Amino acid sequence: MSEMFKRVNGTLLLDTSRPALDRAAAIIRGGGLVAFPTETVYGLGAAANDSNAVTKIFLAKGRPADNPLIVHISSPNQLTMVAEDIPDMAYDLAAKFWPGALSLVLKKAESVCAEVSAGLDTVAVRMPDHNTALKLIKLAKVPIAAPSANRSGKPSPTSYRHVLEDLSGRIDAVITDDGCAIGVESTVLDLSSHKPVILRPGGVSREELEDALHLKILVSGHKNRQGVPSSPGMKYRHYSPSAPLILFTGNKKRCEYVTNKIASAFRRKGLKVGVMNCFCGTGKDSFYRSQQIAADLYRDLRKMDLQNVDIIIAQASGNYGIGLAVMNRLRKAATRIIRVC
Ligand code: AMP
Ligand code: MG
Repeated sequence: MSEMFKRVNGTLLLDTSRPALDRAAAIIRGGGLVAFPTETVYGLGAAANDSNAVTKIFLAKGRPADNPLIVHISSPNQLTMVAEDIPDMAYDLAAKFWPGALSLVLKKAESVCAEVSAGLDTVAVRMPDHNTALKLIKLAKVPIAAPSANRSGKPSPTSYRHVLEDLSGRIDAVITDDGCAIGVESTVLDLSSHKPVILRPGGVSREELEDALHLKILVSGHKNRQGVPSSPGMKYRHYSPSAPLILFTGNKKRCEYVTNKIASAFRRKGLKVGVMNCFCGTGKDSFYRSQQIAADLYRDLRKMDLQNVDIIIAQASGNYGIGLAVMNRLRKAATRIIRVC
């Protein structure tokens, strides 16, 4: 019998029809890897209770084994399948922000395998706001552990084409849907110690969380007071295109003046220069602009690779709303950061 679905280098391309999603769910249940869309970025999923399957995620991505994964569930009722001693605050936040781009770090339940949490006794969990993702989790009948579906270190994928660029032939299937509308990953909020702390800024803003909880929320530095990385993933360079990226930050007008001069100097030397303008602004009036910049960020970084630029000059500032996440990703992608005063 001929195969119903196409393949690229052996990776199945599955659409969002019921037979295709049934196939994707069967692959997950059988210990395989399926890349699927979420409202943040594409995820690379495996059954969260299957050590062998989860280990395959690390191998396919080339991800360091000490960088834990986020577990995706299809309803807040499944929280107790993956976490224990869940504080009321977690239920309150789930009621307000799920489905959505907020991952909560909680005490891990036994059923989640140690590989998912990279040996930590906590687990990050979220319910994504994407119909295809939710259908897949329901059909698979198991929580799905999923990091972003890119090769480690590269910009995260916001389309199935990006997933294929990085992982075709290394994973069993990709669901060919789109709709990663937010464009940057979820906010990781640690609720496992006495005060909530943002370990990674993302799709749900600090301001939204502060409004919901009526308290100030800290955004963690990379290390805690004992010098241990509080969120292991944050210690690695990330989100990087192949060309070196110089990030200019600070006053917009001054940045534009300086970067124009520098870009011209590089061009005179015969270099192909890519310029990215990611000024998100610092107040409420910048809300829509920063959402758009976030939505395009990884696609634009990947475009730089496709255009074979020699050097990328990014200009950016912003600490409001999703602007904080954009700055966080650009800082991690940068080979050099220059503050222009
Ligand atoms: P990714 O899924 O590739 O977007 O990466 C997941 C992010 O969540 C990484 O920065 C991880 O370090 C972080 N993370 C996942 N689980 C935990 C956890 N249990 N404690 C702290 N950070 C976590
Ligand atoms: Mg990632």
